Amino acid sequence: MKIIRTLIIAAVLGAGFTSCSEDDLNPTSIFDNTTEPVQNEFDQWIWKNYTEPYNIELKYRFDDKESDMNYNVIPADYNKSIALAKLVKYLWMEVYEKLAGKEFLCTYCPKIFHFVGSPEYEKSGGSMVLGTAEGGLKITLFNVNALNVSSLDPEILNEWYFKTMHHEFSHILHQTKNYSTEFNNITAGKYYGAGWVNIDDATARLDGFVTAYASSAVDEDFVETIANYIVKSDAEWQQILNDAVGPDGDTSGRDAILQKLEMVTEYLANSWGLDIQAIHEEVQERQTHIDELDLVTLD
Ligand SMILES: [Zn+2]
Repeated sequence: MKIIRTLIIAAVLGAGFTSCSEDDLNPTSIFDNTTEPVQNEFDQWIWKNYTEPYNIELKYRFDDKESDMNYNVIPADYNKSIALAKLVKYLWMEVYEKLAGKEFLCTYCPKIFHFVGSPEYEKSGGSMVLGTAEGGLKITLFNVNALNVSSLDPEILNEWYFKTMHHEFSHILHQTKNYSTEFNNITAGKYYGAGWVNIDDATARLDGFVTAYASSAVDEDFVETIANYIVKSDAEWQQILNDAVGPDGDTSGRDAILQKLEMVTEYLANSWGLDIQAIHEEVQERQTHIDELDLVTLD
């Protein structure tokens, strides 16, 4: 199975994380994987709100089989999983359902959402994974236990969860219907490959990429352009464009980003009937209402 490992943030791990080594872990699993867990209230909610209407399974219990054994992770907290499940439904699933229809969502949405409590740290150290998608089947969201329900910040939510989801979902879309190879030409020869970890967002923007990660490869560039445009406020997007203008007034970076936005806009419209501007506006509108959501009650 093709595995797309994305949104790896490298070099963010300071000395404080060096305790994340194999030596500190007890190799005996405290989780019993042999018996089916009893259906609790949250399981019933998931059935009613995810599985039955959309054919999506939400896994929040720790399950070695769903995790990459080259990384160290900890289980997602029960109450935070409930809160995030409700946020994902409101800020992500309902957006696509409203603008593209339930059938679209049921057909193309990954069939499994997997919540993990911690970020995924490479056992060898050095990098941290924000989210993964595997063959369009499963999206894993990490760091669920860092969710601060009493102080929801859209910027943090987007950075950890929603930008990741739009990013991974866009991979599924372009793997299903290719985008025009003209996109490859916009910043041809400027991709850093694995070297993207050594540059920051500001530098990448001058080169015509929305983020440093976008500069790693053409596919990443394509989906990062979509994901960032959707989740960023108009002011934040403008800042990205401003960052892309060099101190000498060179606008080639900004021009490239705008050209990419135009191409992803055309692709989503022509291939999928999706209006990226409408998705952006819907997400921005919903972000202003997240404080009004009940993220506790399982109804
Ligand atoms: Zn990716």
